[in-house]
Amino acid sequence: MQQRMLNSRPFLCVFIICVLVSVTLEYGCSSSELPEFNSDTSFGFLMDQCDIGARNPGTRGHKLVQRYLVSKLKEFGANISVQPFDAVLTTGDTLNLVNIIGNFNTGSKKRILLGAHYDTRPFADHDPDPSNRNTPIIGANDGASGVAVLLEIARQLGKSNSPIGIDIVFFDGEDSGREGVPEDYILGSSYFASHMKGYRPYAVIILDMIGEKDVEIKKEGYSRVVSADLLEEIYSIARRLNLSEFMDEEGVSLIDDHLPFVKRGIPSVDLIDFDYPYWHTLGDTPDKCSKESLSAVGTVVLEFIWQQ
Ligand SMILES: [Zn+2]
Repeated sequence: MQQRMLNSRPFLCVFIICVLVSVTLEYGCSSSELPEFNSDTSFGFLMDQCDIGARNPGTRGHKLVQRYLVSKLKEFGANISVQPFDAVLTTGDTLNLVNIIGNFNTGSKKRILLGAHYDTRPFADHDPDPSNRNTPIIGANDGASGVAVLLEIARQLGKSNSPIGIDIVFFDGEDSGREGVPEDYILGSSYFASHMKGYRPYAVIILDMIGEKDVEIKKEGYSRVVSADLLEEIYSIARRLNLSEFMDEEGVSLIDDHLPFVKRGIPSVDLIDFDYPYWHTLGDTPDKCSKESLSAVGTVVLEFIWQQ
């Protein structure tokens, strides 16, 4: 009896330590291991945004999605800030815009910026039906998909110790310009990039239109020419993981949220599949998107973070 009591003590200690470690990992504390991207959760974030409806500036949906993003970042433990500003379009209209920022691992000086626009297009100017061309779009792929991947990454960062600092920025006012008027696009990222003060991430990764079923992400033009090393680092991860969604082909050059950072000499990459039949139409709805596409992109970005 005595002997048994003595022997059971080490066992009890080990047991208690194991319970403490597992409770800590589950609730509160953080692991340094590479987290696994959950495509179901990410797709849920895409659905949440689409359920709000159109999210173009000046609408109720725009306000609701702002509240949604702040509450999610808070839930995931980010250090949150918002950056409100007014933008005057070439039409003379003023848009009240807000960039929403969530920082993780704030103690690290080495930082990267992950960005996506959360606003949706106020008019479906490419809809096959001309009577729809002034109607706002839902933007399942063009708007919700990039945000959905970043929210899932934020959720994972909240449970992990990332090796570097991560700044997730949800940009506003990307998609309110009329075609042929480039100065009315990318308003949020332009404002952010011109107000960075001492902040300078060493890499910027923008996600846009990456949720389409069977997504094919070719190498966007500015990313390829100006940020070749960063782009190659990202594509080499996709090759290693056999993710054929990343295609080793030249894509078009686009005015997107990476451009203001490219102009400031910061290596910046735009991950985008611009070949989307429902682009700027009322057909840009969740049924055109897939969990697999979100997963491919989210997995590569998490791997990228963990190999820094
Ligand atoms: Zn768009």
